[in-house]
Amino acid sequence: MNPNFLQTPIPYLKGVGPNRADTLKAELGIETYRDLLHLFPNRYLDRTQYYKIAQLQPSGADVQIVGKIIHLKTVEQKRGKRLVATFVDETGQMELVWFRGHKWIRENLKINEPYVVFGKVSRYGSAFSMPHPDMELLSEHQQGVKIAMQPIYPSTEKLVAKGITNRVIGKMMQQLFLESKGQFPESLSNTIREELQLISKSEALFNIHFPKNQNLLARAQFRLKFEELFFVQMQLISKKMLRKQKIKGMPFEAVGEKFTEFFENHLPFDLTEAQKRVIKEIRNDLGSNAQMNRLLQGDVGSGKTIVALMCMLLAIDNGFQTCLMAPTEILATQHYNGLKELLQNMDVKIALLTGSTKKSERTLLHNQLENGNLNILVGTHAVLEDKVQFKNLGLAIVDEQHRFGVAQRSKLWHKNQTPPHILVMTATPIPRTLAMSLYGDLDVSVIDELPPGRKPIKTVHRFDSNRLKVFRFIKDEIKKGRQIYVVYPLIQESEALDYKDLMDGYESIVRDFPQPEYQISIVHGKMKPADKDYEMERFVKGETQIMVATTVIEVGVNVPNASVMIIESAERFGLSQLHQLRGRVGRGAEQSFCILMTGHKLSEDSKTRLQTMVRTNDGFEIAEVDLKLRGPGDLMGTQQSGMLNLKIADIVKDNQILKTARYHAVQLLKEDPRLEKEENKPILIAYSKMMQNKTIWNYIS
Ligand code: ADP
Ligand code: MG
Repeated sequence: MNPNFLQTPIPYLKGVGPNRADTLKAELGIETYRDLLHLFPNRYLDRTQYYKIAQLQPSGADVQIVGKIIHLKTVEQKRGKRLVATFVDETGQMELVWFRGHKWIRENLKINEPYVVFGKVSRYGSAFSMPHPDMELLSEHQQGVKIAMQPIYPSTEKLVAKGITNRVIGKMMQQLFLESKGQFPESLSNTIREELQLISKSEALFNIHFPKNQNLLARAQFRLKFEELFFVQMQLISKKMLRKQKIKGMPFEAVGEKFTEFFENHLPFDLTEAQKRVIKEIRNDLGSNAQMNRLLQGDVGSGKTIVALMCMLLAIDNGFQTCLMAPTEILATQHYNGLKELLQNMDVKIALLTGSTKKSERTLLHNQLENGNLNILVGTHAVLEDKVQFKNLGLAIVDEQHRFGVAQRSKLWHKNQTPPHILVMTATPIPRTLAMSLYGDLDVSVIDELPPGRKPIKTVHRFDSNRLKVFRFIKDEIKKGRQIYVVYPLIQESEALDYKDLMDGYESIVRDFPQPEYQISIVHGKMKPADKDYEMERFVKGETQIMVATTVIEVGVNVPNASVMIIESAERFGLSQLHQLRGRVGRGAEQSFCILMTGHKLSEDSKTRLQTMVRTNDGFEIAEVDLKLRGPGDLMGTQQSGMLNLKIADIVKDNQILKTARYHAVQLLKEDPRLEKEENKPILIAYSKMMQNKTIWNYIS
């Protein structure tokens, strides 16, 4: 075959004119033969199975039944006539129904002859009926050569309106296979194919479009899913290898004075085993010659801050500066205060830089950074500004990664001549499956253990109609000396309405919790930073008992005495957000509660989210449910979802195949990193083609 055959523009295909080509491009992104070939069916109609009438389910699925028509009648209706046939097999009877074309059918249908009927069944009363079935005499059915499994391609209204129906796409596909003689270049090595017993590429492509039977279809799907995930992994792993070879890090060889001093004298508690393990992993990385790019995952409250601090001390011990960035001012300030307290008896210089740092202070800070007098800079995005120059930044830590854009992280790289080591901390656990495909080029550490003595948070779902009871409960908790969060959703699209809800809610709380017995704080995005800080301060100090807020408090805030989290309109929050919010309580020794308030009208997805929250406190479990509900694109934001433009594999459902693919990609690159071996040639060719057509995702570098 001509090696450029698959590059052929789609209008060259017989049966596709310029008009159809335009529609194919606009609706399905199909421009070349290759694109068409990789348009995989969404599903198949199974014409290999025969059902008995007694087995039918009102599932809406297409089924195939063998039986006879014993009776035919016309039924008069308000809106015209319909033709109804009574169809039987040895297990029961059902109806076949036609609303159009009666005459032809009446004249051609044979009574008491065995037919094969095919179509969707639905149930009316106690009887099943099949409207407008595909009918074929059993005798003819047995003679004809049939595609057993009929492919159903992705479609859109426009496609159908322009006459590009499923049949037409099927015809195009046939034409493509005719022109190519069904021969397509193999893209995997014999070794891998033999080991996994994969069918050839040509066989797989043929059977994905024209499956001969269930078994071959399954093997075709496996082969193509494997291949797709395999090449994604190849890209991720080779990128990681490249980074490790090319980008020399600054080795932190010494475990020095500060680290040891802190560990021996100032650590306020024993580290959990998980914290110890993670620190060790990071230390090994920092000590090597390569630049570290590590993702630290740990559920809310798992104690990531102390890990960050100890890593920063390592940097300082090796003569470097270090910075910690947080997505909001409140969080940055809290980190700064927390770290300052932990370091109070040590000779380490630490400063805070945010949007509201005064100009005079800023100038001083810039100087101290440049001459190396400052060891730790804590801050918001302000740290990324070009004016902020370090003398020698050795380690940058980013907290709560999901709020940070990719571009911002890449800015960090350029803060130093040699890129600093980077540690990204996230409290939104990324499901392992997703981490593997998205962050396959990062190293991942997981803190999978909470500090001892934590009481699991009790979570309940309450309807708005029970608000008075909830308020009574709050009063009891306040009497015991606890503090309460009440959180309202704030979504850009409905901002004005959301603010109104927040203010209405605030007023009703003020009414029900009158001063001076109760003091209430409010924090929302429209307030000046100074006012926010003031309100936050009052709550942190315990001067107010209730904090009414929008989601600005979502990340990081630490008020151990707060033991109740009320989430209003909880159905409007995503799962990971709910979990984050809940993580604001349960930080002290007391039993904590999370109350999810909603109206009575809930979608199925909302119900699942609420049930999941009530059932479990495990962030990883929650993340897996979230992934299933929302799909990977939504979960990671558009920026990253583009990387997972998978045509056939599904990283949730095909988790097992993903693992296999990753294993084989790792093995291959270990044995033949440059793909020089003869037997790996097909992989090399396919891979190079792929990289030509793709801008390599550079979300870190
Ligand atoms: P997160 O991982 O959510 O950032 P933090 O670092 O804020 O969690 O830690 C949550 C709380 O747990 C803090 O009050 C911290 O002091 C405490 N903590 C962290 N590690 C331990 C530990 N090993 N033993 C006891 N308490 C700990
Ligand atoms: Mg934190």
